[in-house]
Amino acid sequence: MKIAMVSEHANPLAVVGSVDAGGQNVHVDALATGLVARGHEVTVFTRRDSPGAPERVVGPGGYVVHHVTAGPPADVPKDDLWRHMPEFSARLADLWRRGGFDIAHAHFWMSGWATRAAARRVGIPWAMTFHALGSVKRRHQAERDTSPPGRIEVERGLCATADLVIATCRDEVRELTELGMARSRARIIPCGVDVEHFTAVPPEAPGGRLLAVGRLVERKGLGDTLRALARVPDATLTIAGGPTPDALPLDPEYRRLRAIARGAGCLDRVRFLGAVARDRLPGVIAAADVVVVAPWYEPFGIVPLEAMACGRPVVGTAVGGLLDTVVPGRTGELVPPRDPDALAAALDGLLADPARLRRYGAAGARRARSLYTWGHVAAATETALQSLLTRVPQEVTP
Ligand code: UDP
Repeated sequence: MKIAMVSEHANPLAVVGSVDAGGQNVHVDALATGLVARGHEVTVFTRRDSPGAPERVVGPGGYVVHHVTAGPPADVPKDDLWRHMPEFSARLADLWRRGGFDIAHAHFWMSGWATRAAARRVGIPWAMTFHALGSVKRRHQAERDTSPPGRIEVERGLCATADLVIATCRDEVRELTELGMARSRARIIPCGVDVEHFTAVPPEAPGGRLLAVGRLVERKGLGDTLRALARVPDATLTIAGGPTPDALPLDPEYRRLRAIARGAGCLDRVRFLGAVARDRLPGVIAAADVVVVAPWYEPFGIVPLEAMACGRPVVGTAVGGLLDTVVPGRTGELVPPRDPDALAAALDGLLADPARLRRYGAAGARRARSLYTWGHVAAATETALQSLLTRVPQEVTP
């Protein structure tokens, strides 16, 4: 297949860890790489966010990244990109008219909106992966949700019109059906983990070493993790993510988290690393006894899979994709979100039990390898996309 993948804000070649660069960037890169490895031709269309970037560049995974000019060629916060989507979509349609693509696959709602219009113009089928949902964000963040108005209605429309919705976990399907999607429109294909990169390393003697990895945004629950840390004597917490270490002191969320740790009396047991590059991350995970993933909500969550692939137990919150990836009592523990006491109790119990730590770690590594490799994800996506090609051709709209 000749596949047009669309990821308007998440450039698969970007450095991840900052506010708007995380799991989607990793996902698009790994999926595009996996589809190329299976013999397909993949171009990822993303918005140009720097004037110097070449129009087309071949990434290490063998797919092309096409930087589409729409709006200023500069960093624009994700939630301010909506107004540039008509231009982005029109350019996609122009490029696709000449490009001979068989199918399009959109990532995130704004990409979906732009893709639908362009795909209809050239008459190709399109699939939709949301990565995150406005309805969920609104529920948790209420008036602090900075999404453009109308996001939820656009997502509802995308659910109803996409040729296929690819959901990443059962919880997302539940959310999508609440948005009015017919269950038959969706297939579940999870996110994956690079098991060649994240390899299982035998743990050192337990030493109360906790690790959290992720973007420094409030909903990732690092505040709850710090409050839990204060209740687990002698444990230490390393936090990977956020801007580069030199820029950390200016980061508002970093400052807020430090204030929480200071107030809870555990600042001396916390270390912030800032953004950690992909090649260093397996070593950082291997140096921990337990990886804590305690978001308020989580569309999928790739970090738990990375921890599992490295053979480390996950103590997390029972939300989103963690409900599928983490098996309580087997590969980790799940507690209710926003409950530092429950989190502390789970961590305390597990850290005090070296045999359970080892058992959970080994079981997690087996689970990641048997169910969540990017190879599995690419193969399942290939099957899903191919099923759309055999359908009646789309009507071409002017
Ligand atoms: N990540 C990273 N370096 C960092 C922080 C995060 O490489 O300093 C990666 C992390 O390993 C994972 C991704 O960013 O692959 C985060 O994905 P996840 O699905 O857990 O969260 P999201 O960012 O999508 O909310």
